[in-house]
Amino acid sequence: MEKIKKITKYLTREELSMQHRLINIILSIGAMALVVCLIFDFFLGTGARTFWIMGLLIISFLVSLFVANVLKKPNLAGIILAAVANYLLMPLLFFAEGGKESGMPLWLTLASLFTFLIVEGWPCYVFYVLNVLMAGCLLYSDFTHPEMVQRMASRRAEYEDYLYGIAFVVLVFGIIFKFQGRLYEGKKKELEEKEQELIKMNLDLEKANEAKSVFLARMSHEIRTPINGVIGMNEMILRESGERNILNYASSIEVASNTLLSLVNDILDFSKIESGLMKIIPDEYDVFSFIRSCYTMLDMRSKGKGLKLKLDYNEKLPEKLFGDEIRIRQIATNLLTNAVKYTDSGTITFEIDYIKKEEPRIDLILRVTDTGRGISEEGIEGIFESFRRADERQNRNIEGTGLGLAITKQLVDLMEGSISVKSQQGRGSEFTVVIPQTQASSKPMGDFWAKFSTTTGTGENYEESFTAKEASILVVDDVPVNLQIIKLLLKKTKVGVDMATSGEECLEKYKEKHYDLIFIDHMMPKMDGIETFVELQKTDRYKEEKTPIIILTANAIQGADKEYMAVGFSDYMTKPVQVQELEKMLIKYLPEEKVTLKEEAR
Ligand code: ADP
Repeated sequence: MEKIKKITKYLTREELSMQHRLINIILSIGAMALVVCLIFDFFLGTGARTFWIMGLLIISFLVSLFVANVLKKPNLAGIILAAVANYLLMPLLFFAEGGKESGMPLWLTLASLFTFLIVEGWPCYVFYVLNVLMAGCLLYSDFTHPEMVQRMASRRAEYEDYLYGIAFVVLVFGIIFKFQGRLYEGKKKELEEKEQELIKMNLDLEKANEAKSVFLARMSHEIRTPINGVIGMNEMILRESGERNILNYASSIEVASNTLLSLVNDILDFSKIESGLMKIIPDEYDVFSFIRSCYTMLDMRSKGKGLKLKLDYNEKLPEKLFGDEIRIRQIATNLLTNAVKYTDSGTITFEIDYIKKEEPRIDLILRVTDTGRGISEEGIEGIFESFRRADERQNRNIEGTGLGLAITKQLVDLMEGSISVKSQQGRGSEFTVVIPQTQASSKPMGDFWAKFSTTTGTGENYEESFTAKEASILVVDDVPVNLQIIKLLLKKTKVGVDMATSGEECLEKYKEKHYDLIFIDHMMPKMDGIETFVELQKTDRYKEEKTPIIILTANAIQGADKEYMAVGFSDYMTKPVQVQELEKMLIKYLPEEKVTLKEEAR
């Protein structure tokens, strides 16, 4: 009994398809029934013909069972079973059990319908056609050679056989339909429930994600403001303090607050990208300035690590491009910072090239190669995913969040570009970014180093290009730190710097004292830079002295210079103020007799 249960369980187990289970049930019940019949027939002594038919059927059932379960080919088993039933059993029964004048047409129908259940795919339609042909042949034989058919014993037996047929066929198919219907309904309900669950989970996830992005954006924005204050004031300490100890402390504050700032900036950018708020704002930009700022940054970051830097650029690169310079610079900065971070010795190469596309389009290529620690094969997988750090064991002494490359990739995607990485552990890495840009000028950029040497001269070793003890200037800005910075930048030039934190204060000071030059910030509360300028022009002093006035602006928008000049400003300068730029302005606008140029600047 246990054995039978086990076999039944095995033949109807869940993982089998519906067709397979049905075949197993039909075959095993059929085979058992036939064995019982065979035993009865043997003892009752029915004809040898029936005996052979039954034996053949049992063998074919067992073969089918073997094919379905041992060879694991249920469709082939179904085909064998359907062939034996339709083309052996049914014809024999037709001729032996009364032909058309009995329940045989119903049994033929039953066998054909069963074929649809146990045979899958196109063979099932082949069976259908053959079955109809077969039924036609049998009926034709009955019609033309009625003597071939062994009739039922009486008319009553014929009707009874017909009735049994109806009862059996309807019952079998009724049960199958019900069974399949229930199965379908059950599955449908299960699917509907799962779908509802998924929709709810998705909604919850979206809400949680949105809340996270908003929280991160707010937090990082709030944190950024005070950090900027810390950095600004610390800068003052670094510039003004002469005490070694204090300078050491201030340097540590500088490093820590810059790390904190870049971390907060990364989180802000990441949440902006996640919530779809990061927008690409294309504008015209100068390719030389872009490369210079990347190179200067790379130079600064690699200081103290003894790394060799190599700049590999194409002189034919267009002088001006149209694209989002800020975001492209962010991409390059991320890759260059990583190269410095993960390289202990050797060379970092920054390659800038381009491929011409359909005029005026180009593909800008940025490639950063290092001879650093490299990344393992497993590490490279998912390297562009957020918060993913590769080879943590190898890099455990290096600070990082795993956000830089995720942001880089998302920015590249936003610009419809591509990023790829090649790396070998212990040998180094190569990151390549391709970004579609538009050419804004067909003039080539030319020799980078020639331009670089004429525009650079900053940093600790920077020497002032002139002195002007007699000169006096007024700087107007509502942010005191900005005023302090200009004052400090001009310390060595000995120019007298007065400061005002509003347009009103500027007017008061101007009325009282002569200035050789005035710098006014554009964006100020109450009276802005332009309004202050208008008021200054109305004063008697201005009418008489025509003091040169330069406007300071934080947005280097294309064409803004022309607008400021149209208002009447002598010049305009972008913030953050660069010392060379500032000195150039002073040399240009201060009275010549007050300026003593240093030898090299002449
Ligand atoms: P992290 O803040 O950890 O530097 P990133 O997203 O910038 O985050 O980089 C992800 C990981 O990729 C890093 O943790 C590091 O393992 C690996 N990686 C990135 N750039 C380099 C490189 N130039 N050399 C070796 N490994 C790198």
